[in-house]
Amino acid sequence: MNATAPSPSPASSRAVKPSASSAPPVPSPPRATSAVGPVEKLLLAAATDSGCEVPGDLSDALTAAGVSGGRWVDAVMDAGVIPDETRFFKALASRLGMDFTEIPVPAGGSGQPLHQCLPARLALRHRLLPGRDESTALELYTYDPFDLEARHMAGQTLNRGIVWTLSPRTQVIEALRQGYGVGAERFEEMLDGRLATMENDALKQEVTVLEDNEEATVMSFVNQIFSEAIRERATDIHIEPLESDVRIRYRVDGALNEVAVPPNVRLLQNSLVSRLKIMAHLDIAERRLPQDGRINLELGGSRYDVRVATIPSVNGESVSLRLLGRERMDLGALGLSTHLEAQIRGLLAMPNGIILVTGPTGSGKSSTLYTFLRELNTKDRRIVTIEDPVENKLDGVVQIAVKPEINLTFSAGLRSILRGDPNVIMVGEMRDLETTEIAIRGALTGHLVFSTLHTNDAVGGISRLVDMGIEPFLIASSVRAFLAQRLVRRLCPHCRRPAEEHQHHDNYLNSIGFPLDQKHLIFSAGGCRECRGTGYRGRMAIVEICTINSAMQELIADRAPVSALRAKARAEGMIPMRDYGWLKVISGETTIEEVIAVTAADHGH
Ligand SMILES: [Zn+2]
Repeated sequence: MNATAPSPSPASSRAVKPSASSAPPVPSPPRATSAVGPVEKLLLAAATDSGCEVPGDLSDALTAAGVSGGRWVDAVMDAGVIPDETRFFKALASRLGMDFTEIPVPAGGSGQPLHQCLPARLALRHRLLPGRDESTALELYTYDPFDLEARHMAGQTLNRGIVWTLSPRTQVIEALRQGYGVGAERFEEMLDGRLATMENDALKQEVTVLEDNEEATVMSFVNQIFSEAIRERATDIHIEPLESDVRIRYRVDGALNEVAVPPNVRLLQNSLVSRLKIMAHLDIAERRLPQDGRINLELGGSRYDVRVATIPSVNGESVSLRLLGRERMDLGALGLSTHLEAQIRGLLAMPNGIILVTGPTGSGKSSTLYTFLRELNTKDRRIVTIEDPVENKLDGVVQIAVKPEINLTFSAGLRSILRGDPNVIMVGEMRDLETTEIAIRGALTGHLVFSTLHTNDAVGGISRLVDMGIEPFLIASSVRAFLAQRLVRRLCPHCRRPAEEHQHHDNYLNSIGFPLDQKHLIFSAGGCRECRGTGYRGRMAIVEICTINSAMQELIADRAPVSALRAKARAEGMIPMRDYGWLKVISGETTIEEVIAVTAADHGH
């Protein structure tokens, strides 16, 4: 039946079965002959051409690839020894006498949707990307010229002339993902199964396996949505029904991006939503009321905690998925200046007192607290937290989730925690007087307490506590520091470029307090494949720390106004957040625009 793919390796048919299960390396005869096969030789030569110092294990990897079905090019790329992918494929093309092209952005030369040029199952399984469509022939980009089955299938399916062009693997895969949409292959298989109009024998055989197995397809589709989100470093996934379509969006680095989805995904909408609701243990029959749940996801060997919220809308139910604890940082990864890092290490070394992290929602307060807890998480410390919700699970830390419906509030939880002999306590948020008072009592009785407050700047935390009704002398004697923070996007190191002279006028720089003598060091965002054209990749914190030393304690106890507190804090060495942001601009890590965007509320411009 499947005798269509002629195997170029003489060894493959003999060696497939016996070697699969046996672990001890039995000396096998094919090795000597296949190690010097023509394909392996050619690839090794192309690797050398492209500047790779071919290591011995690359030829072993190639031999193994030959034995297990002939994905030699993948074996070379997966070995991770090719320093420059584009150069390698260029060298390979020239040795094969093939055309080489880098794939244009956006891909697809004919203007029509890719799935109309080549079916998704064929394109995605064999990694073939349709390019220019000319009357005589269709151009197909491939990165694996030795995939003879692909050539055969494409020829049969298209039944017209094909111009084969070699392109870098990363570019082909990325363009396929963009062009066909997440989960396109399985989706198309399912629709084909439904319509049951297949001509090609080999394909038909695969489809019948899936026929009437919509459940499996939807599960696989859901998995692809999740794995794609994780690959993209997304923190949230939104599945939103529109009037005649379904939209899937990922939040990456704080910004929403629409994900390409297969056409007609609308047909799957109900099964998709039901599947997610089942995974989150929600009532699938209830479609008129919002519901909340959680999914414990296991994907690729890692565990993910996903918070699920369904919202009924006029076009159907929308589902929002939050991937908890995705922005992981340790103290080093926060990218703090050495001065600030030393200051924080000093605070963490204190035996007792309160350290408060302030900022609006989404400013990364809880990831900073987790960072602190991770630093302190040693065998000789008992750490207990009360959170809403538990975003990150920490080994060896007792974590409690707030449950107001059974009266497990922050204050009730905190009270019982204090009876349980902790060294370090983390309270998700100081929302009310009662919680704050218990936390202060805890700090005064020898515990180190971490929490968060909703205020813009560090000094604002003081007045927030006073407004709550806390006696100033209690604040002065229990709080060690207020740390305010925001997240800014990091410039993509691959495409950032020095800002043009005209981009920032001196008057403007003056008005925002940027040091003019550093103007020549400003970078601006570009856009490349690495950052999906956004110019940014990842985020980092900009912070200001107001330490409560004896001078500050006096002013607080005297009920000094905020302006006096702020002036004193600066005199005592606090670097305001925006100034700290300028340091990050000058070091080329972020842009003026990013710093302004997150600090504007404090400055009025
Ligand atoms: Zn870039």
